[in-house]
Amino acid sequence: MDFLPTFMNIRNRDCLLVGGGSVAARKASLIRAAGGNVVIVAPSVCEEIRSLVEQGDYTLIERHFEADDLDNKVIIIAATNDEEVNETVSRLAQARNLPVNVVDNPALCSFIMPSIIDRSPVQIAISTGGASPVLARMLRTQLEGTIPNAYGKLAALVESFREEAKAALPTVEQRKNFWEEILEGPVAELTFNGKEEAARERLSEALAEASNRQDDLVGEVFLVGAGPGDPDLLTFRALRLMQKADVVVYDRLVSKPIMELVRRDAEKIYVGKAMANHAVPQEGINEILVKLAKQGKRVLRLKGGDPFIFGRGGEEISELMENGVGFQVVPGITAAAGCAAYAGIPLTHRDYSQSVTFVTGHRKADGDTLNWPALAAPQQTVVFYMGLHCVNTLCEQLIAHGRAASTPAALVEKGTQPDQKVYLGELGTLPELVKQQDVKPPTLIIVGEVVEMHKKLQWFIPSENFNAD
Ligand code: SAH
Repeated sequence: MDFLPTFMNIRNRDCLLVGGGSVAARKASLIRAAGGNVVIVAPSVCEEIRSLVEQGDYTLIERHFEADDLDNKVIIIAATNDEEVNETVSRLAQARNLPVNVVDNPALCSFIMPSIIDRSPVQIAISTGGASPVLARMLRTQLEGTIPNAYGKLAALVESFREEAKAALPTVEQRKNFWEEILEGPVAELTFNGKEEAARERLSEALAEASNRQDDLVGEVFLVGAGPGDPDLLTFRALRLMQKADVVVYDRLVSKPIMELVRRDAEKIYVGKAMANHAVPQEGINEILVKLAKQGKRVLRLKGGDPFIFGRGGEEISELMENGVGFQVVPGITAAAGCAAYAGIPLTHRDYSQSVTFVTGHRKADGDTLNWPALAAPQQTVVFYMGLHCVNTLCEQLIAHGRAASTPAALVEKGTQPDQKVYLGELGTLPELVKQQDVKPPTLIIVGEVVEMHKKLQWFIPSENFNAD
């Protein structure tokens, strides 16, 4: 983050605007809209400013800027077309630690002005840190279209009930849940449809109901698949529940950009899971989920890929069921699907592969329980999860059971993520490749003729990081 986003209270405070052109006029109106007293300093001013001043509420000093103009001001904006003047204003203001903005010149600014969506009291400010004001404006246009005007009214309605809700629902958690229901339910709909009185009545009723039922408050667990790493691959439902959770229990495979989309004030509990090195053993995770839900919390159990594919989701929900805790399961894009798409390797193909098998390289006990003859059969794709540590055995066994040593094979490291790497080889050469290239987990192993397709497809897929040819 290069800037700290804040909202400033300038009501009835003096704000200095240096400049008299149309850009200055726009800034003057904005400051006035936020309740600030605008003091404009410029030797000559445009028609727009003249008419603003005539309508009152603005102070105009018609001369060049002087250092004393900074006295008793809370913010300074320079919007002249004279670079020297802008520079002087910036330097003097910064020497006095006054927040200063020079229009279209980030280097001279101590604060920058965002693009604004105004649904007062709701305000959305967008900034690109000065990198591209045009991009900020485009984003604003997109958001404008999706945020109804009535959001302001909804916020005002909620505000008028805040004290009452505080008295009726004593804990922060209860109030959070209550407001979420209100903001997503009929009260919001009625407000958006202009039926404000009905919305008010409905809100009042809902508050009374919530206050009566607070004793039997029970939590819930959302078992959510986060996909292989690219946040674009989350489902809408996953994102909605990520925004709703009070607490998140997550493991190593959940990528950082995905964690950033989880509700900011949710408690975050890391339960690790790097093979044998479990930060918290599975039984411990099950217990944590039950305990948190019984405290009335909405618990997000966020897992890499899909929760039901090598994710131990089944064990977690059995425990929840035994303890009478409600849950929902949200599927995610499993590593095989994500890696295959982003590496340009179709998992099946009419000519080369009529089936695909997902296999784990990590078994409960050391005993070799995989059905090698079946896995070594031709005309199929085999995808190994958690196979990196035992790649030698996997390749040896497939070859020993009849799959050709020349069968194409690929390793996809950190699939779908910006630093994804794809290594291409053959069954016979894969172990050596892993050693030479220092391949790191999480890595998926794909075995089968379809791997050849990578060469044709790699230019059409959303990843830049190919180090294989
Ligand atoms: N439930 C997960 C799998 C968990 S098992 C899913 O459906 O994807 C963990 C294994 O998944 C890792 O050892 C690795 O083989 C694979 N994996 C998960 N994410 C990956 C990624 N982004 N790139 C490559 N392999 C990945």
